[in-house]
Amino acid sequence: MSKKLEGKVALVTGGSRGIGAATAVALAREGATVALSYSASPDKAEAVVTQITSAGGTAAAFKADQADAKAVAALVEAVVAKFGRLDILVNNAGVFISAALGDPNADIAAADREQAINVGGVVAAVRAAVKYLPVGGRIITIGSVLASRVSFPGLGGYSAAKGAVVGYAKGWARDLGPKGITVNVVQPGPIDTDMNPDSGDFATVLKGLTALGRYGRPEELAAAVVFLASPEASYITGTVLDVDGGFGA
Ligand code: NDP
Repeated sequence: MSKKLEGKVALVTGGSRGIGAATAVALAREGATVALSYSASPDKAEAVVTQITSAGGTAAAFKADQADAKAVAALVEAVVAKFGRLDILVNNAGVFISAALGDPNADIAAADREQAINVGGVVAAVRAAVKYLPVGGRIITIGSVLASRVSFPGLGGYSAAKGAVVGYAKGWARDLGPKGITVNVVQPGPIDTDMNPDSGDFATVLKGLTALGRYGRPEELAAAVVFLASPEASYITGTVLDVDGGFGA
């Protein structure tokens, strides 16, 4: 049986761990050649590459700090130089900072860096990638259900960043529709990763807010990205797909 993404090249930012790693593996399983980026975890990034190549796929890891727009532009150029094209951009890399307004202990520098990574990194990657994306190209950004419903204090900055990528996706869908490129956002609910482990009191609260009463697995998120990257999703653009176990129900 032919694979859905044979002949395509995908870049997954933040592919060393969690949702990005699962997405890189899932895209490769459908035949895509996968570039994945990382900032602090070269060994984990190489482990994902090995997982893909040992299953017969093609992959490579690239170091690039998503907070640095020049590094992100260089990342896209390096991927195209190595693999010759770019068809699918998955903007996954992200950080989560809790910083309540007026909290004297809030780490403002970290909160500003969160914006640089979660919004600036997405914008930089799309600006660099759009030169190369062909007809049928795909831009998929990992947002968050917290863009739609801010369930706890301290999340204003994170939620605003995840709301911003929805606005960009809708705008870019209009810009790139005439070129046959689709742009969408996948919004995870609680997914069991280093960022949001399924353990402890906070996890118990989060589970209670989902309809399914459980965390999602990174693979369940990756499946939605593969769908949006596939030819079957050719008429879906400018939209938001919640993969949240019913958190927003
Ligand atoms: P993890 O913390 O498990 O993994 C984050 C990934 O992003 C790592 O690969 C990490 O690379 C990379 N990354 C972080 N900072 C940078 C940076 N400055 N430059 C390049 N890469 C970077 O997070 P998740 O897998 O949980 O999250 C993935 C996405 O999903 C994020 O955008 C997050 O906001 C979103 N999300 C996650 C939810 C969840 O419940 N897990 C819920 C809603 C949204 P490295 O290993 O090198 O540090």
